[in-house]
Amino acid sequence: MIIKTDSKVIMREKGYNFNFDMKSGFFARWGETQDDDPDYSPYGPEIADIEIATSCKGVGKVCDFCYKKNNPNGTYMSLDTFKKLHSILPPTVTQIAFGIGDIDSNPDMWEIFQYCRDHKIVPNVTVNGEGITDDIADRLNYYCGAVAVSYYDEDKTFDTIKKLTDRNFGFISQDGGEDLFFHANSLDGIAFDQLREGDAVTFETEKTEKGDAAVNVKKA
Ligand code: SF4
Repeated sequence: MIIKTDSKVIMREKGYNFNFDMKSGFFARWGETQDDDPDYSPYGPEIADIEIATSCKGVGKVCDFCYKKNNPNGTYMSLDTFKKLHSILPPTVTQIAFGIGDIDSNPDMWEIFQYCRDHKIVPNVTVNGEGITDDIADRLNYYCGAVAVSYYDEDKTFDTIKKLTDRNFGFISQDGGEDLFFHANSLDGIAFDQLREGDAVTFETEKTEKGDAAVNVKKA
């Protein structure tokens, strides 16, 4: 039996159990007893690795060492194809590590990530640092559980990680509802760095292209 709530995936079968928290990434697996650690999942993988783009210009130049043989003429997987693939994945899949080339190598990538979230799968991705704008950094933070940055150039890697970790936004926990995204620009009467985890806030909800977001956020 597998149960999926807003933020948790819970598996209960004889000899194989897990709890996965989509918010924190915490994953606990056990077998007949809590001291057992099964060697493998008899019901299907917990994590899938899926390549959704093979187009890549490299970092400054195409990498002749690319083990995936990505190049500027590569192709990508459409959302429709991904949906078909998703339909045959076992329900045990809690996370997908997506392989891409350039950050814009798959025009359906954000919709694929949203589709994953809608189906209680956390998307993760590895980027090479090229073309990461503030907006893209916000989107990666919003959708992904983990973003890995491949190391090609010290400055680029540093700048990319800084951009990904310096984002000014957060999530509001709601009783009985999903977490609500808010950006620092949506705060009213308080600076972002004055807010602390657990602070009570009031807000209004607005629809954005990435889903519902909180606006006019004020400290209660
Ligand atoms: S940046 Fe990475 S994915 Fe792109 S060509 Fe180089 S090794 Fe391959």
